[in-house]
Amino acid sequence: MILSLSNGIFSKLRLEGNFAAVKRLGFQNIEFNMKSIKKEHDTDVYREQKALAASDLNCLTLHSAVLHVKDPIEVHQAVYYGKISLECARALHTSLVTVHSNVSKKLPRDVRERCLREIFGEIKPFAKQLGIKLSLENLSYNSTGFGKNVEQLEEVFGVIDPFGEMGITFDLCHALESKEVNNLLEAYGSRVCNVHLANKAHQPFTKETPELTAFLTKLRSFGYQGPITLELEHKTSLEEIAKSKTLFEKLLKKF
Ligand SMILES: [Zn+2]
Repeated sequence: MILSLSNGIFSKLRLEGNFAAVKRLGFQNIEFNMKSIKKEHDTDVYREQKALAASDLNCLTLHSAVLHVKDPIEVHQAVYYGKISLECARALHTSLVTVHSNVSKKLPRDVRERCLREIFGEIKPFAKQLGIKLSLENLSYNSTGFGKNVEQLEEVFGVIDPFGEMGITFDLCHALESKEVNNLLEAYGSRVCNVHLANKAHQPFTKETPELTAFLTKLRSFGYQGPITLELEHKTSLEEIAKSKTLFEKLLKKF
């Protein structure tokens, strides 16, 4: 497993400052979160490419800009967010992009299905053309989006991914909040290709807990070797991020 930091935590800083803050903490790998771009629909991906090259950081994964569509009229915007995220991933030389279902949990099932079909009908072939794998993230119960448990994710996959080509970004914080850790692992353990790691409310783990140990043990039993991406709440102090980093450097040697 490979330690990484979501740079979304420094999204208030300009890009150079954002990468510099990640470097100062001693991380080598990042998940580039599209929140780090002032306007998520900004198309100047070469600016990000240059800043990343200058920082010498390695972009392991990218978190797509997302819009939880509440009305079919918003589908085009969701497609555009998805495509510009994929362009950015290509510029940053990563081939794994985390996406949400992009549909609101408030939509009726038939409208949800139509929106899912339209959005992913465009995003999936575009990703394929760029050689990028899409990875669907499980959401928390308090998210506006659809996809918090196995039942909901199965519905989404049934519409957008009947052949099981997409991966899962397992968000431990969301799974703990929704009390779905074991169900999600049982259903998708072998499809996990990215992990968002934080305690409830995106607080950092600074000590080993029974839940964390159980999760990492299960993950290892599936042969997982991908990123462990620390995805932390905005107000987390630098000191706490450093503590969490030290903990995971130690833990990842065991797992
Ligand atoms: Zn996440």
